[in-house]
Amino acid sequence: MPKPDFWNNRKRYYDFKSFLVNRFGCKVHKLQIDAGFTCPNRDGKLAVGGCAYCDGRGSALRQKGSLPSVAEQIRSGKALYRNLRGAAKFIAYFQTFTNTYGPVEKLRALYDEALTQEDVIGISIGTRPDCVDGGILDLLQEYAKTKHVWIEYGLQSIHDRTLERIGRGHDAATFVEAVRKTAGRGLLICTHIIAGLPGESREDMIGTARAVAGLPVDGIKIHSLLALRGTGVGRLYEEGKIALLSQEQYVSTVCDILEVLPPQTVIQRITAEGYRDIYLGPDWASNKLKVLNAIDRELEKRDTYQGAKYEVTGGR
Ligand code: SF4
Repeated sequence: MPKPDFWNNRKRYYDFKSFLVNRFGCKVHKLQIDAGFTCPNRDGKLAVGGCAYCDGRGSALRQKGSLPSVAEQIRSGKALYRNLRGAAKFIAYFQTFTNTYGPVEKLRALYDEALTQEDVIGISIGTRPDCVDGGILDLLQEYAKTKHVWIEYGLQSIHDRTLERIGRGHDAATFVEAVRKTAGRGLLICTHIIAGLPGESREDMIGTARAVAGLPVDGIKIHSLLALRGTGVGRLYEEGKIALLSQEQYVSTVCDILEVLPPQTVIQRITAEGYRDIYLGPDWASNKLKVLNAIDRELEKRDTYQGAKYEVTGGR
């Protein structure tokens, strides 16, 4: 398969940075926002313990005490990333917990606050697939007429037995339904998946990627399961009941995943790190650059690209 010209990059996959430069012609930085939301998997609506891998602390800002306003978070983030990365435009990323978990009027006020800041070209809303309804999607659809709008659905795995094991509180069908309800509204859809979840084989992980590839999903975030102190996964890891992926296993699995995704799917992230004070493993995952380089090397070695094994289905 020849490398697609529209990537306009030096990678063997369509990275988010290149996508943004291609679309906006300048450096765009995604600013993380904590707007003070909670999550139904933590506040008792569905459960109180949260997903087995989630540390439940929220952003570093939240841990410091009272949260600055959305506008204030954007002002300080812009100043920092203009200097640090030379960013010219910004996407406000409502990241912490479930950012559609509230009445539409509250959501509108928070999203409006972000979108009216200078040089903010769009928003990205992190949420659960069971926390969207027609009213929320109508609101995001309205923004998408003039702004760049992503919605990010946590999925983690397409296998219900895994979702149950990690306590997600929703099944795969709920995710598929959310994607179907969102598609065609002018918003971009991103999905989060985790490699190395307890009880999953490499085939299971590739199966998740194939399922995502068959849906109208525009972007993906992939990371390895992290063990954090105080979480269910952390406990199992400390008790020696689960093993985490080695770097070699992760890199190889990510490359398998990239091969089955469509070439146009934007790879928003392929690494992740947790808070250092509660980080148990895997050791290698905290060296982001090393992991990214290893993925590049593996793709090179295989002489392959994202999309090399993508099979067009009727679902997209
Ligand atoms: S849905 Fe997200 S915020 Fe809620 S418990 Fe799971 S990982 Fe944590």
